[in-house]
Amino acid sequence: MLKIGCHLSITGGYLSMGERILNMGGSTFQYFTKNPQGRAPTKTPSPEDVAALYSLILESGMTMPLAHAPYTYNPCALKEDVRKYSTESMHSELLFLENLPGSMYNFHPGCHVGQGVEVGVTLIADLLNAVMWEGMHTTVLLETMAGKGTEIGRSFDELRMIIDRVDERFHPNLGVCLDTCHVSDAGYDLLGDLDGVLQEFDRVIGIDRLYAVHLNDSANPMGAHKDRHAKIGEGYLGMDGIKRIINHPMLKDKPFYLETPNDEAGYAREIALLTEAYHE
Ligand code: FE
Ligand code: FE
Ligand code: ZN
Repeated sequence: MLKIGCHLSITGGYLSMGERILNMGGSTFQYFTKNPQGRAPTKTPSPEDVAALYSLILESGMTMPLAHAPYTYNPCALKEDVRKYSTESMHSELLFLENLPGSMYNFHPGCHVGQGVEVGVTLIADLLNAVMWEGMHTTVLLETMAGKGTEIGRSFDELRMIIDRVDERFHPNLGVCLDTCHVSDAGYDLLGDLDGVLQEFDRVIGIDRLYAVHLNDSANPMGAHKDRHAKIGEGYLGMDGIKRIINHPMLKDKPFYLETPNDEAGYAREIALLTEAYHE
């Protein structure tokens, strides 16, 4: 079965997200842990609401949701106060996610803002070593990035450098989320050589470390470093490219999350389209 969902607003609470995605024909979803651009915490969720979502997930056989950290975190910022804020916030979010055991938590590795890749990856690993713990019930995912500005994670090798610097005791809870728009923007040829790209991922990172896929078309050609998501079939990857991705033997069992420019009705249409295009 295709594991598919989309990004949802958390405004209506936790249970609401689970109910909505099931109504949309999906089987998992992603949400921002708090306002993605701001620092204001969303109102504290009620334990009953979170517990109700967890029961719904177990009853319905949904794939555990993917929480996405806000964009305001920068684990490899130059300013120490930004790094401290990122560390403390991520730690508290990971503690909270113990209420939804089996969750995934995705974050953008960060921008090194001129400090260089070496310093950047070391600071990111320092943060992970500070916020993770042995026996935690969440899998923390590094997202592959488009390589805009000084973004770290523009290559599989940069993510490998981070993983190598994280305490091995935390490795069972550490993985990668592959964003198809970002990877294409970073210069990997998903359209012309999907096999080659996935073999490269497997060689450098290991396909077992791939826990989730952000399924987006890209408004720009390969290597553009722009990070502009397009609707499924309306971008550079196109419907054929996207179909090959969801049906590839190395990917077809992974959960896919749409982050395309859509409202919920548009997402429901894309979920239906992809479900139709998926070979069991
Ligand atoms: Fe992201
Ligand atoms: Fe993404
Ligand atoms: Zn993006």
